[in-house]
Amino acid sequence: MKSPVDLHIHSCLSPCADDDMTPWNIVGMAKLKGLAAVAVCDHNSARNLPAACKAGREYGVCVLPGIEVTSREDVHLLCYFETLSQAMDMGMRIEREQPHIKNKPELFGHQILVDEDDTFLGEAEHLLLAACNLSISDLAQAAWELGGVMVPAHINKGANSLLPVLGMLPENIALPTVEIFRTVPHRAAGKLCLHASDAHTLVDIREAEDACVLELQELTPAALIQVLRKGKGET
Ligand SMILES: [Zn+2]
Ligand SMILES: [Zn+2]
Repeated sequence: MKSPVDLHIHSCLSPCADDDMTPWNIVGMAKLKGLAAVAVCDHNSARNLPAACKAGREYGVCVLPGIEVTSREDVHLLCYFETLSQAMDMGMRIEREQPHIKNKPELFGHQILVDEDDTFLGEAEHLLLAACNLSISDLAQAAWELGGVMVPAHINKGANSLLPVLGMLPENIALPTVEIFRTVPHRAAGKLCLHASDAHTLVDIREAEDACVLELQELTPAALIQVLRKGKGET
């Protein structure tokens, strides 16, 4: 089935996102906008994903668990997983590899943690924007071994993006799928190219008519992961 998806949305846990971007608000808005699936991808943390997944079940929207990881090279990489527990495992690994710099909410923004029912739990203490001590290649391997896939984010955008930082797509790392920043024209030969909102506010979440459309066997995280792992290839 052809499914409109927005696979890059930040919750209120990301300091740069609005405080009303709670997981339940995001998924509710996605439902209103007619999206079949969304991925909530906070910077370097999976801690608001239990709420996103529960909201997905309640609203009937497929929620793909994700994290936008900042690699050692300062490149943003979306890591997607079939299950919440795989994403939580990856989140724990990222946290172990992050420097413990205290967040300054007045400077960077709040990092709001919620429980699975969207109730305020507190704030993440360490700044989630800091790069972790894992390379692009480490992260690709870790995501793949957990059963997920790494998709470089907004590869043609500017700072924190694969092409400006490396100057090319690395050939020694399997990258079946990439995310393109759509206002800059780009084609990545041989890759499945996604586009997404990278929304930090509720209004920025894509409308179904303007969303990336994927052909899915069924509307599940497993089917999404299968498409992203396959890319344009045969296997
Ligand atoms: Zn990014
Ligand atoms: Zn982002």
